Amino acid sequence: MNTTLSAELIVSGEYLSDRPVNIQVRLTNQSSENIFLLKAATPFEGLFSDCFEVNDTIDQMPIYYDGFLVKRGPPPLESFLFLGPGAKVETTVDLGSAYAVAAPGLYTVALHVTVSYSVGSLDGGILADFSRHQSKLGKQTLSTPSCPFKVLPGQFKRMTVGEQNRDPRAQAARLAPGGGVKALDVPTPPNVVGADPTQTTQILQAHQNAYNLVVAALNNLGPVGGPATTDPTYALWFGAYTDARFNIVSAVYGQVQTNFQGPAITYSTAGSNCLPNSLGYTSYGSTTIYLCSLFWSAPATGTDSQAGTLVHEHTHSDANTSDIAYGQSDCQALAASNPDQAVNNADSYEYYAGG
Ligand SMILES: [Zn+2]
Repeated sequence: MNTTLSAELIVSGEYLSDRPVNIQVRLTNQSSENIFLLKAATPFEGLFSDCFEVNDTIDQMPIYYDGFLVKRGPPPLESFLFLGPGAKVETTVDLGSAYAVAAPGLYTVALHVTVSYSVGSLDGGILADFSRHQSKLGKQTLSTPSCPFKVLPGQFKRMTVGEQNRDPRAQAARLAPGGGVKALDVPTPPNVVGADPTQTTQILQAHQNAYNLVVAALNNLGPVGGPATTDPTYALWFGAYTDARFNIVSAVYGQVQTNFQGPAITYSTAGSNCLPNSLGYTSYGSTTIYLCSLFWSAPATGTDSQAGTLVHEHTHSDANTSDIAYGQSDCQALAASNPDQAVNNADSYEYYAGG
């Protein structure tokens, strides 16, 4: 049993529906070595990923993550948090920004997050070529017991990021019949906000390239029981073939293609929630995808490209995929160990499509 790190949650008993639901996360380095903790996809970068298990105690229903969905690039040095032997670090996040806990009632929250870290020193190779050295990082899943809390009525109900950004047109498109490969091979031209002429050219090209990747993925998949059943590339990213999982994969790409051909979506460079290592972010049901600094230095096509980033973000906003694993090595490991999760993981869709 790996006990390098331990975690605690500190939760107030009561919150108001119009105020942040601030909870504190404390990690302790239980080892006798220096630890460099990767903050990405943990509460230590803010609440930008699904790090908690939240339940409505009265309805006995899980409350799913509805916050920002980020495409991350290689982490810079400042993405690592140093913990000496026995050291503790704390951070506070507003649970209500990403989980719908504003309705007055009773809830529980537990931390559930897999962290990556380097022991002893930070290997220079990890920073220089993260995708190749990512697998050298130690990993540990941190869980805490469930902590109960109560939300009392305030002046109004605060909304999650997803609730604030959900576009009713996206919901209408989702309910519309159709899906699958269409004869029309051009996407609806997007709206572009905040970009200079060079960036606008890159965005329009990436939009078309991402659409082409999605169409190619649908063609490679073929019908149920078709080429994907024995395709090693399919197995590499989505794991062992079953009809049920294939149908999910096919429906996700189909929904993305449908939305590319639906009402114009918006790409904005004016997002205020970019992280140092972000290429872009969105939220469930949003018709806006925000582009961040690393997007402009990514290649137009190929692995972790601009086109791939848009495929990644579209599977979030159009088809509700999650971020369970990032990067090619972790996504391949996920396909092998847990294909049910791989067919719900945004980077897996990006890589299968060739982006
Ligand atoms: Zn993502």
